[in-house]
Amino acid sequence: MHDLVIRNALLVDGLGSPPRRGDLAVSEGKIAEIGSSGKGREEIDAAGLALMPGIIDNHTHYDAQITWDPWASPSPALGVTTAVIGNCGFTIAPCRESDRELVMRNLTQVEGMSLAALRAGIRWDFESLPEYLDMLERRGAALNIACFAGHSSIRTYVMGKAASERAANDEEIFLMRKILLEALQAGAVGLSTTTSPAHNGEGGLPMPSRLADEAELRALVGCLREAGRGVFMLTKGGQTRIAFLESLAADSARPVVIAALLHSSTNPNAVFEDLERIKEANDRGHRLLGAVSCCPLAMEFTLHAPYVLEGLESWKPALPLKGEAFKKKLREKEFRNAIRAELSRPAHFRLFNGEWDKVQVVESQRTIAELAAGRDPLDTMLDLALEEDLDTVFNALLLNSDEDAVGKMLRHPCSLVSLSDAGAHLTFFNDAGFGLHLLGHWVRELGVLTLAEAVRRLTSHPAAVFGIGERGALRPGYRADLLLFDPAKIGRGPVKRTFDLPAGEPRLTAQAVGVHGVWVNGTRIVGPSGERASERLPGELLRRFSA
Ligand SMILES: [Zn+2]
Repeated sequence: MHDLVIRNALLVDGLGSPPRRGDLAVSEGKIAEIGSSGKGREEIDAAGLALMPGIIDNHTHYDAQITWDPWASPSPALGVTTAVIGNCGFTIAPCRESDRELVMRNLTQVEGMSLAALRAGIRWDFESLPEYLDMLERRGAALNIACFAGHSSIRTYVMGKAASERAANDEEIFLMRKILLEALQAGAVGLSTTTSPAHNGEGGLPMPSRLADEAELRALVGCLREAGRGVFMLTKGGQTRIAFLESLAADSARPVVIAALLHSSTNPNAVFEDLERIKEANDRGHRLLGAVSCCPLAMEFTLHAPYVLEGLESWKPALPLKGEAFKKKLREKEFRNAIRAELSRPAHFRLFNGEWDKVQVVESQRTIAELAAGRDPLDTMLDLALEEDLDTVFNALLLNSDEDAVGKMLRHPCSLVSLSDAGAHLTFFNDAGFGLHLLGHWVRELGVLTLAEAVRRLTSHPAAVFGIGERGALRPGYRADLLLFDPAKIGRGPVKRTFDLPAGEPRLTAQAVGVHGVWVNGTRIVGPSGERASERLPGELLRRFSA
């Protein structure tokens, strides 16, 4: 007798095989039988529904949230059964007690997390990364978690405030390597970092990893070779060359995941040039992947925290300023002229590109291009915000809105479907439902991917890249991480604003459409109507990754 049998489902195995109808049985948290099956203590008739392995979300930032919310809301309800946390180098461990405030302020600036929520919410029962992992394991989670060792955190731990100011010396690199090797031994999934100018911390200072030189990166990635496992993930600034990253992949013999390949309508070829170089590297036998997104990148923001603009070189003088000094800067003519000049120059990658017809004032639903009516659009936006004491809410469609281009990226042999950024930018956007969007929009509505291929890209593909064993496929003996859904309805619902963070702080949350059940290690965590179905926390902290 099996614990559970799901009957008559369209089985999409995650390996790219043609879907077929059949039963799937679960016993003791694992997939026991596929095709036809004996009886189960619980039986579900899934006629008309499809069953796939749970989604592996490889780009999240739940490091802080998971310490107060073991459900990592809203990801499990959106079909995610495994989340990789600690991307871009922004972990909360290791962290000395004296650095906690700095780390929280950095996260507030760089990932748009509310400082009040972080202060009220984070459980600081750890100092080192191994201690953090032990804490997560002790406290449990609804879904499986894999955690990166984050470059910026390790840097701050070793260098203190100097981490945001200068390159590391040999002794500091030696200490960082030691910490990284211990983290890998304790079960970190790899090393994450960023060189992106969009990543600024408290007071507008660059996030620590941005101060690393190539020698430091090479020394740290070398730890992956020593450990014989782990992924190197990096969010790439325009100055970081793919050839350099290829040399790191060659030296370490480990996969390199390059984020964030988002399509820009103002420089439409840039991502394809990157993907072409990545493909050439693969042809030479090196494992590089371009992290792409299946969601258009839109952000809601006010000028109180204009992440959208903070990656601009010309915005730098405003970055450390607050209150009246900040407003005064926004009024300055030279400041505005510098922004206009920068936006008129082409850039390889830039979050905001002056597409004023895609920036909307949320309250009036009118675009800046419309409101400007012949005036300068930057002046129009800044003057409007200044008149309203910076409270004006804008929505900017920034990147990834050209569906022909994004479709090509999603089909590219060297791309990795990624970049939900779940757990971060909580008031700007919420793409935690990226997997459902891939299945609904790109498979059903546009036919850009087959169902089998889309499911593969959400499951066995990331499992293989990250060395996550026994997951990501419907196979006997594999863990029963499952998503039951209606292929005719699957998708993501509207994003909503709620005030359920610690200290009553706001965030955007997303809902599922067409999800009929989610299981993690054989335990049902999401019921037939999308409701929470368990009091237990069946997720595992993943510590062992294949070579
Ligand atoms: Zn990130």
